[in-house]
Amino acid sequence: MTQREPGPPPSSTANPPVEVKPLPARDAAAVRHVPFESPVRDVMDGAQRLEIKIHDHGFVALVDAMPRLVPEGQTADAAIVQAARVSYGQGTKKISEDRGLIRYLLRHRHTTPFEMVEFKFHIAMPIFIARQWIRHRTANVNEYSARYSVVPDRFYRPSSESVRKQSKANRQGGAELFGPEEAQTAAEFLRYLDDAEALYARYERLLESGVSRELARIGLPVSAYTQWYWKCDLHNTLRFLSLRMDPHAQEEIRVYADAMYALLAPIVPLTMEAFRDYELEGVHLTRLEMEALRGERRGGSGELASDNKREQDEWREKREKFGF
Ligand SMILES: Cc1cc2nc3c(=O)[nH]c(=O)nc-3n(C[C@H](O)[C@H](O)[C@H](O)COP(=O)(O)OP(=O)(O)OC[C@H]3O[C@@H](n4cnc5c(N)ncnc54)[C@H](O)[C@@H]3O)c2cc1C
Repeated sequence: MTQREPGPPPSSTANPPVEVKPLPARDAAAVRHVPFESPVRDVMDGAQRLEIKIHDHGFVALVDAMPRLVPEGQTADAAIVQAARVSYGQGTKKISEDRGLIRYLLRHRHTTPFEMVEFKFHIAMPIFIARQWIRHRTANVNEYSARYSVVPDRFYRPSSESVRKQSKANRQGGAELFGPEEAQTAAEFLRYLDDAEALYARYERLLESGVSRELARIGLPVSAYTQWYWKCDLHNTLRFLSLRMDPHAQEEIRVYADAMYALLAPIVPLTMEAFRDYELEGVHLTRLEMEALRGERRGGSGELASDNKREQDEWREKREKFGF
């Protein structure tokens, strides 16, 4: 038997060329190759991936973008402007400047031009975060299969200093941290995580004993990591960021959303600037809040005409943002 030479690892470039059989002439003849009119640049600056590490084992990596190539000196915002100009045609003479156009589109919720830009991310996150993330149905997702492959021995655990107490104001949220005098409780929480992580050794033993991967995994904690490819258009990515960068979102998903914002900001800077101005740091007022403001201007107390505690709390938060 001849011994095989050690060769390079298999890669897409090592694949033998595939012969593509031409279609009947009536279809093939229609293709016209139109080159770019001016030099172009890669919006990811030639990178295979742009990655930000999250916690001990997580990451968000931008692995592709559409458009990937834009005219030199421009950003991927150009694809939004290009799409908008198709719909506005001559009307763009009035709002011809790109920045102004993008800000106008975002302010007036003319959203489809933002769907012309897409991003593909590779993300590693704990399963409890993936459960929140998957609710954003407008993305295309392909996840690591724990039926097909063994779950890696990686778990999310906060440091003892960052264990949060249950918030009194928000039933869904964690708020302040355990102080040094309550360190026992934070330590107890970490021991509880130790016990959950210790199940991994039993998972491995059960796999070795022949239990199927699809069943063995069901005893593992939701702090175990999963990963997926997540592709989404810019309009729905902004929606995701708006919900998950918000202070009401769980801190563990917020860090991922913040990282995605940081990755996208240099690629679509005009859009991200407008998104920050109108959505992230803008304040939307309800009718009752407007009336409270008008009343205050006329010398009234500025109180909200509502007996709902949550509405009152939200009004207080907004007033603080205004500096009242
Ligand atoms: C702070 C916070 C707390 C939350 N708490 C809970 C909770 O306790 N329980 C819970 O179950 N969820 C909870 N969620 C999830 C939340 O209800 C949404 O499911 C999630 O944020 C996705 O939002 P979305 O539907 O706008 O996103 P997407 O699914 O991306 O949808 C984007 C837009 O497309 C529309 N759309 C998408 N698919 C369809 C469809 N099939 N038909 C019609 N329209 C569609 C949506 O209406 C939306 O306008 C929470 C979310 C946040 C941010």
